[in-house]
Amino acid sequence: MAGRNHLYIPGPTNVPMEIMSAMQVVMEDHRSPTFPLLLKPILQDLKKIFRTETGQAFYFPATGTAGWEIALTNTLNPGDKVIIYRFGQFSHLWAQMCKRLGFNVEIHEEPWGTGIPVDKLAARLKEDTAHEIKAVLATHNETATGVTSDIGAVRKAMDSASHPALLFVDGVSSIASMDFRMDEWGVDAAISGSQKGFMLPAGAAILAFSQKALKATETSTYPRCFLDLTDQMNNNKDGYTPYTPSIPMLYGLRKSLDLLLDEGMENVYARHNRLAEGVRKAVAAWGLTICAQPGFESDTVTAVVVPADKDARDVISTAFKKYNMSLGGGLSERRR
Ligand SMILES: *Cc1c(COP(=O)(O)O)cnc(C)c1O
Repeated sequence: MAGRNHLYIPGPTNVPMEIMSAMQVVMEDHRSPTFPLLLKPILQDLKKIFRTETGQAFYFPATGTAGWEIALTNTLNPGDKVIIYRFGQFSHLWAQMCKRLGFNVEIHEEPWGTGIPVDKLAARLKEDTAHEIKAVLATHNETATGVTSDIGAVRKAMDSASHPALLFVDGVSSIASMDFRMDEWGVDAAISGSQKGFMLPAGAAILAFSQKALKATETSTYPRCFLDLTDQMNNNKDGYTPYTPSIPMLYGLRKSLDLLLDEGMENVYARHNRLAEGVRKAVAAWGLTICAQPGFESDTVTAVVVPADKDARDVISTAFKKYNMSLGGGLSERRR
């Protein structure tokens, strides 16, 4: 089919022409004296997207899923207790990963369409006087349901309990598109991927760690190798990587950062909000409802509830066959 396909899944998102052109490069030596001129400014500029001055940004040849694993295995010890609220497919998968990696994961179910219940979290953390919980895992934007949680309020809940746990935030579908303030919210590990807000192909895990989290890597006894942060840090300080990076991806990321920072992050957030508001108004005008409960609406993903007498699979296959339009299906949840 000629021209662009109409890609409206949560990710990969559309890659702007400027970024596609920027990625069309010849390969170069990643151990050359000039390579650091590419990598070092990228890692510096990433901090502006995460809104951190004191933290450190990282790039891994991986995906968002690896980002979860990087945060867990570099800062915690085997068997450590972590807490997560589950209200969609991505919070579910993150909880499953914790189980498979041998962490003691405390899962609290919340209705799909809602997000992190900060009052319940504060109460649970106050109960944990022995500080057994080592990390709070927060899914900022639950892509499966189009729900955004208030991470600033999560931080307040943790502070109100004077709880020392680390705060890990999955921002795979929010960072670079929605308001995100790593330092202000006291986020210890902010996790993202290349194929959503960064407008790139999949293939990179993009993260930032606080000094507190970096300190925790020194005492973490979890076995790790490919996803080790210390190896990254030792190489990144001179502008190199521990293993071969994707050269086109880095040039694409350079262009993505230029586009985002030239537009200005506040303008980027406002643009997503305006577009999402338009989508929500259209859905309401069609007489349909969205999955997110009021106050939890996401500005990057709108999950539309298909009426009970229709099959979502028909909607998706008609959109694809007839209009060359890809829509994302709801993930997993059976009707409650
Ligand atoms: C897409 C997504 C992921 C998974 O990222 P991959 O790059 O597919 O591994 C994790 N969390 C959220 C919230 C996502 O939207």
